[in-house]
Amino acid sequence: MRLILLGPPGCGKGTQAKLLSRRLDLEHIGTGDLLRAAIRNTTPVGARARPFVDTGNLVPDDLVNELVAERFQRTDRPSRFVMDGYPRTLAQAHAFEQVLAQWKLPVESVILMNVSDAEITRRVTGRWSCPTPNCKATYHVENNPPRVAGVCDECGGRLIQRADDNVDTVRARLKVYHNDTSGLIPYYRQRGLLSEVEGSGSIEQIYASILGILQPQGG
Ligand SMILES: [Zn+2]
Repeated sequence: MRLILLGPPGCGKGTQAKLLSRRLDLEHIGTGDLLRAAIRNTTPVGARARPFVDTGNLVPDDLVNELVAERFQRTDRPSRFVMDGYPRTLAQAHAFEQVLAQWKLPVESVILMNVSDAEITRRVTGRWSCPTPNCKATYHVENNPPRVAGVCDECGGRLIQRADDNVDTVRARLKVYHNDTSGLIPYYRQRGLLSEVEGSGSIEQIYASILGILQPQGG
């Protein structure tokens, strides 16, 4: 199976990609992990990407495309994979398609996890986490609240919110997502590759919906 997972930031596609990679024996490919590995191994693309990372800047889209291409040039290129967060734009989808065509590994399925902006905002802004280094427990004010507000159940640490998890940042990220995917989603739909799942249930419910699409006979 060669699969792309799409969905807004905070929709839980990383969690689903991890579950699917174990169940279906797929390589879980996220550009963050690829980038870290390329820099650690000082590959040609890693060396060019490093200054962006070191200065806290976003790696340009072209370089991200080259990073993915570099992964597929290796002899241990994955023939079965789930893409998590790439391609993000129509231009990246075109670049990715060329890479895959070169190795005769076409994408077989694209799954879009639909979660409303309101739901994403509610999820992300309700997150609290424990800063204690060997605890790192996470909570949500509605779904999974600590017993005492602001205090970690596990270690008694004082819970904090990530600076990024505020309403303005989430809205800005969603705006970029909608803009980026406005060409991408129709592209995969027109090619008959796109399936959509309701992404607002439990992790288990969403996972079952995705498996139902990928393995209609329950195989
Ligand atoms: Zn804790």
